[in-house]
Amino acid sequence: MFFKAVVLIVIVGGGGWWVLSHPQTPVPPHWNPLQELTVTAPVTPVTSYQLRRALADEALCRATLSDAGAGFTVMEDLVVDQNCGIAGRGLLSRLVTADIGAVETSCTTTLRLAMWEHHVVQPAARELLGTDVAALRHVGSYNCRQMRTAQGENSGWSSHAMADAIDISGVQLADGRRLTLLADWEDTGPEGAFLHRIGQGACDWFRVVLGPNFNRLHADHFHLQGPGWGYCR
Ligand SMILES: [Zn+2]
Repeated sequence: MFFKAVVLIVIVGGGGWWVLSHPQTPVPPHWNPLQELTVTAPVTPVTSYQLRRALADEALCRATLSDAGAGFTVMEDLVVDQNCGIAGRGLLSRLVTADIGAVETSCTTTLRLAMWEHHVVQPAARELLGTDVAALRHVGSYNCRQMRTAQGENSGWSSHAMADAIDISGVQLADGRRLTLLADWEDTGPEGAFLHRIGQGACDWFRVVLGPNFNRLHADHFHLQGPGWGYCR
């Protein structure tokens, strides 16, 4: 009985691997855990696994961004000290379709941002506002500083010190409208709904998301942070 079970596992498991790894596999790449991430492919249960692999491998991260058409010019790593610096550094100027003011950041932050733009921001803009987002507006990514709290500074280092986060302050829409968190967060119409939806949706692609609901320091931006303890406000 045990032997039969082992044989069955080998046949099914081995067969499954063969089906997934065969060049003519009928399994679409975005359903295949052996294939690499495509930013613009539909999201499936396999996507987070593919994303984790791309985040862990700098060359793969760059290639994935390049395939997506992102504007990310590779730069030498910034080495400062154990608290500050940028590994996988680049100059980001465009995501999948939206521009962004040129900003030095890490490949991993850029990749998460590209997933958010393509799978959350643009669909929300089309559905709620009837237009595309032409540009994301930011207020910085790399900053060698300690965390700020509403009470003042504390001793922990900010995720910005490693460019593991980026602060997004608003969007420029293709129809000319410009939305900011500061001016439009409290809006009760579609523009406010759009900002709330993209803030909530950022939690699918970043581990820590802080916005106007968190505290007054975040009244004018979303803090989007890759690594972290899983916190979404
Ligand atoms: Zn921040």
